Amino acid sequence: MERRPETEATDTRVMIERYLPTIERARAAGVSVRTRLWHKPGSAVDLLAVEPVEQRRLAAVTLDARALGRTVWEKNVELSEDHFAAFPTGIPPEPARMIAASHHVLVAAHGEGPAACSMCPTRPGREICARCCGGGKIHLDHNYREYEPCPGCGGAGFVRCSVCEGAARTRRARVRFVEDRVDTLRYTYVPSMTVALESALDEALAPGDPGALPDCLRFDPRPRATGGPYRGGPAAEPTFHGHRFGDALRRATSAAAGLGGEGQILRQEIATYARPILWLRYKIRGARREVVLSVRASGEPFVFVAPR
Ligand SMILES: [Zn+2]
Ligand SMILES: [Zn+2]
Repeated sequence: MERRPETEATDTRVMIERYLPTIERARAAGVSVRTRLWHKPGSAVDLLAVEPVEQRRLAAVTLDARALGRTVWEKNVELSEDHFAAFPTGIPPEPARMIAASHHVLVAAHGEGPAACSMCPTRPGREICARCCGGGKIHLDHNYREYEPCPGCGGAGFVRCSVCEGAARTRRARVRFVEDRVDTLRYTYVPSMTVALESALDEALAPGDPGALPDCLRFDPRPRATGGPYRGGPAAEPTFHGHRFGDALRRATSAAAGLGGEGQILRQEIATYARPILWLRYKIRGARREVVLSVRASGEPFVFVAPR
């Protein structure tokens, strides 16, 4: 059965409302904010039953982002003839998915042909054994007076040269290194407020498992062009159902932009979610309190009260 558009819009609205904190909704969910205003018994007050002196609709931003960045650098190297002949060339293909990979490709060969290996001038094709430092023998365990032939080189003091692979000749070449790296970022950016409120919200609005947040909280973080007679004027900062992101959006977008490193960005998958917050300020007979209401990823209401 085909659903009518109005029904769909209503469903989305109902879904979103669960995540838009209001005093009425918090009270309906049985939330109370009892706080003692003075150090004497019986002075507890339920703040949600009192009119706040100020309220602001704010929103945190949860970022669920992945980027595949490609870094490229080049280096002159010396290769064995076999290694040189088998060296890949061309540009490594862009991966079809978010997969980390390392490639190296030959950019240019230096010189007409092979030249003497720079690693093994003393004994061509051989290099000093790293285990015995060329001595051919090593100390027996715990006994510094006795020796045994070095197991690394069989007592010879030399092993096959690792650069020319024993041929005593190498090719010089320029090699390009290509590193594809996947960066992931799952983080909630809370708009600036007092430290106590920010850290409480940091904990409550943590992104949770991937896919834990409903699609109805996703939004487009790009500034909107102002329409009408003001077209061409400054772009309007996006809001979410009347909730303002403050500096949280700027911090989230700059973190997303930095994802994938300095190099070329091959792929990007960024989901941006709004996490509406209701910030309330109370002043009751000289006592000041700040309260934040919000909704956890699970849909559970969250409330936190701090002295101002
Ligand atoms: Zn050795
Ligand atoms: Zn060599």
